Amino acid sequence: NLSIRLEEVVKSIPLGAKIADIGSDHAYLPCFAYLNGYISGAVAGEITEGPLQSAIQQVKKTSLTDVIDVRKGNGLEVISPNEVDCITICGMGGTLITMILEEGKAKLEGVKRLVLQPNIGSHHIRSWLIQHNWEIIDEKIIEEDGRMYEVIVAEPGNALAPYNGEVEAGVLMGPILKEKRSSAFTTKWTYELNHLKQIVSQMEQAQSEESKAKLQKLTQDISLIEEAL
Ligand code: SAM
Repeated sequence: NLSIRLEEVVKSIPLGAKIADIGSDHAYLPCFAYLNGYISGAVAGEITEGPLQSAIQQVKKTSLTDVIDVRKGNGLEVISPNEVDCITICGMGGTLITMILEEGKAKLEGVKRLVLQPNIGSHHIRSWLIQHNWEIIDEKIIEEDGRMYEVIVAEPGNALAPYNGEVEAGVLMGPILKEKRSSAFTTKWTYELNHLKQIVSQMEQAQSEESKAKLQKLTQDISLIEEAL
């Protein structure tokens, strides 16, 4: 059985799409998606030898070698432009996911949807999506085994549309998550808020010149979060 986190990602893939799952590890996501009728085929990309071998084994074991192509490579270099309809990148930090999108920009031609699942630092991804005119059409926040995961679903479009003018708060917390205000969302941001307040009070005691700019940014984030909760 697939984790709730990856199942939520699969549910956001357009039905019948050909996907590329980048950083696929065991290729659980594309195997599950194909066996349950969500996709017509997949490329599973892996940069690391161990996970690559796990992916190859899993695809063999499930007899999906004809429909799931496991390829070794860095990020989007494993696909050609117009080869897939949808790209999934899951279980990594937001900085790494953003780097993969930025370095692979040329391969996004023909891609109709991105389904991204950062473990942390999702604001990096949202900034990149704004800069490259990908519109967030859905977001999810999932609590599994005591950890919080976010899913960002984006399509080419009007990147600022979901933000309702509140770009800064939206980039930080997610424009759609902020609207939905689910209990997982308030749990996460109440925790973050207390954490930031603690950092600020420690920094205020130190008060070095260097920390003043950082302090200002933290104080600003604190008021954005307080407004959203
Ligand atoms: N996507 C799976 C999931 O969500 O359960 C696996 C997540 S695992 C933590 C991250 C995987 O991404 C690792 O197997 C790692 O080798 C791979 N990875 C990291 N950077 C990558 C890159 N630039 N290109 C392709 N794969 C990468």
